[in-house]
Parts: sequence; C-alpha cells; structure tokens
Amino acid sequence: MSQQFTCHDAYDPNALPVAVGRQLILDAVAPIEGVEHLPLREALGRVLAEAVISPIDVPAHDNSAMDGYGLRCADLHGDGPTTLQVIGSAYAGRPFPRAVGQGEAVRIMTGAPLPAGVDTVVMQEVVTPLDDQVTIPAGQRAGQNVRRAGEDLQAGSPALPAGKLLRPAELGLIASLGISEISVRRRLRVAIFSTGDEVVPLGTIAHEGEIFDSNRYTLFGMLTRLGVEVIDLGVVRDDPLALEGSFREAASIADVVITSGGVSVGEADFTRSMMDKLGEVLFWKIAMKPGRPMAFGRIGADGDGAWLFGLPGNPVAVMVTFYQFARPALLRLAGVEAPGEPPELRAMCTVSIRKGRGRTEFLRGQLYAEDGEWKVRTTGAQGSGILRSMTEANCFIVLGPGQGDVAAGDDVTVQILDGLV
Ligand code: AMP
Ligand code: MG
Repeated sequence: MSQQFTCHDAYDPNALPVAVGRQLILDAVAPIEGVEHLPLREALGRVLAEAVISPIDVPAHDNSAMDGYGLRCADLHGDGPTTLQVIGSAYAGRPFPRAVGQGEAVRIMTGAPLPAGVDTVVMQEVVTPLDDQVTIPAGQRAGQNVRRAGEDLQAGSPALPAGKLLRPAELGLIASLGISEISVRRRLRVAIFSTGDEVVPLGTIAHEGEIFDSNRYTLFGMLTRLGVEVIDLGVVRDDPLALEGSFREAASIADVVITSGGVSVGEADFTRSMMDKLGEVLFWKIAMKPGRPMAFGRIGADGDGAWLFGLPGNPVAVMVTFYQFARPALLRLAGVEAPGEPPELRAMCTVSIRKGRGRTEFLRGQLYAEDGEWKVRTTGAQGSGILRSMTEANCFIVLGPGQGDVAAGDDVTVQILDGLV
C-alpha cells in the first residue's frame, strides 16, 4: 500500500485536487473477496461475482412482434393488394399445428411462435379482414414485425459481465434466461462512528455547548442506499484510549471504517499520532470547499485490517466528501467493475456566485427545467454546517479549480443527487 501512496508525492497534500484524491483512493482499493449464491430477488443491489452466460437463445423461437397476420412475403403482389385465405389463429405459448402454404395467412398474436412457412407479419391495423379471408395492402417488407430467435441473446454468450451492479433490468434479464439463483459478492461491511466531546447521541440531552450527532444519520442513509452493511459504533469522545479502542474494534469487524470529525487543523495532530500506531493513514487537505481536511488509509493488522475514511466533522462536508471520495471507492470495493463518475450535466446558473480559483467548490443547488433548458440556482446559505442546504438541494453545483466568479446566465456543471443518493 505504501507504494500506492508514494505516487502522491507529485502533489501538495495541503492542496490536493479533488480528482487526484479520488483517483489515488480508487487505485489503492480492490474488490473484497467472498461470494454468495442468492435467490434472484435477494440479489437486487448486489454485484455479480461472475459473468452470467445465457443457457438459451432469447427469444427462444422466431415470434411475432405484433398482433396481425403471418404470411409468406413472396405471396404478396408488389403493386397492389393481395387477398389470402386465413387458416387459423396462432397464439403466444401455443405452437401452431400446421404449416402455412401458398396463398394462406394466419391470424397471429404478439409473442406467438411463427408457424412454419411464415416469414412476415402485417399489423392488424392495416389489413381488411372479410369472413375467412384477409386483404393485405401493397408495400410490406419481407421479415417485418418478426423477432428472430437469439436476436437478443444467443445461447452460450455472456448476458451480463462480472462486476455488474444488479438493478431491476438485470434481475429481469437474468429471469428471462430461466436462472433463479446467482453468484454475487458478499455485502461490504462498513463501520461508522462520530468523534467529538461536544457530540451527543440521540436519546440523551444536549447540554450547553453540545450538539446532537447528525453525521451518523447521514452516513447511515448514504451507506444504506449504496447497499452496504452498516455497523454503527456510536459516538466516541476525543479521548486517545477510547478512540484507539474504537478504531481497533472497527478495523477487526469491518472492511471499511468511516468516521467524522477529528481531522481538522486543531485535531489532526492528535488523530495523526494515534494513526501512526494503528496503520498507515494519510492526512490530506483537499483543494475543495466544503470538506478540506480528510484522512485516508489502512488501519489494523493486515488480515484483520480495514480501509479508513476520516471525514471532516461539518455535516455538509461529510456528505460532500462521502459522495466525492468514499462512494466510488466503496463501489469498487464491493466489486463494481466501473464505478463511474457522479452523474453530471451542464445548466444555466441563474444567480451570480463568488468563487476563488485553485479549488473545487460544491454548492448546493436546485436544478429545474424552464423554457426547454436546464437551470440551476443555489439553495441559499452555503455554510458547511448548514445541513438544510442539502435537504433543499437536488444537485451539487460543481465549480472546478480553474473556474472564477460565476455571472448569472453562465453555464455551470451540476451533479444530480438522484442517482447519486
Ligand atoms: P471537527 O472536524 O471535529 O473539528 O468538527 C467540525 C465541526 O463539525 C464542529 O462544529 C463540530 O461540532 C461539527 N461536528 C462534528 N461531528 C459532528 C456530528 N457527528 N454531528 C454534527 N456535527 C458534528
Ligand atoms: Mg471534533
């Protein structure tokens, strides 16, 4: 691991660019071991441990894509309507008992296997049925409205790659192959605790100077949405022995430990000296706002160790640093092949924003569509302790290091929280 981290020498750890920090973390972590075999529904939100190979052709047979009439295209006159004899009806799930011969047609339902002889389907809306005959207008194309066997997937071919996060579409696809159990990675175990003498847990009374612990709740929410197992270790006082005990316990039971607080300038030295005992942890000042101080590294003995994210204490900074740094790393650890960047788009900013160059700022924004265009405004007071700025937001406005002041009407980049959260 130390080798991984030496490559950050090229950057000033007191002004680490967001993208560099994210990449250093992503490069350091690799998927956890451990596979489970689960019934399909329980695999929702999990990550495929191995590729799913299709045991069958999908669709299994040539079938009709429409309700209409199945016929032999060669029987149709090129220059005018053709009347054919209707010999019966073909239904989905029931093979049609005989072949369709010259001058004949069959009424056919969507999904019904094509009877022998049929190569083309004409949708029912354009034909003229009369008794046991049907008249087909000119202008049909051979093979139209037919779904070919194997056109979606061929037997023996990979239907889904290893490392794929299983969403509803993937569950459906796997079910369509007749597969009811699937190999997925085990869930990532993430231990969380809050630090700070002023922080008190819910269910107690906050005395003067004390605040309720909110970070464990945002972290619980963000982690649960990500599909990991959350182990909540409560609030730990700024006491070396208590902290060391909690870090050791967390490292022994979890794959990842995420803490908040204790990494700011006033407290970093204290935390740092303890981390030197526990493992190898880097203290970064990221060139960003909010969320400047952050610790990342590995604690605990190797077989029994864990990755550590020491997030800042301020509630908004916790959320921003989680999404920018922890989320992609957790996805990678969970086995996701390509965690991807948070979803971004450009929008016209309707307000002016003061912005210093040299750092990335994450403002809380409201993205909305107006006159066929994406527009965004800020949610008001942007202090890193003002959690309301997050509850009112549906996006981050991301102003990169090269960006100066924003004038009303300028385009800016936004990260959409839906999809991220
Ligand atoms: P720190 O990084 O520990 O210096 O904390 C920075 C700020 O975040 C301080 O104002 C803390 O009181 C606040 N803070 C730290 N931890 C929490 C927490 N768990 N919940 C809410 N606020 C917190
Ligand atoms: Mg603190």
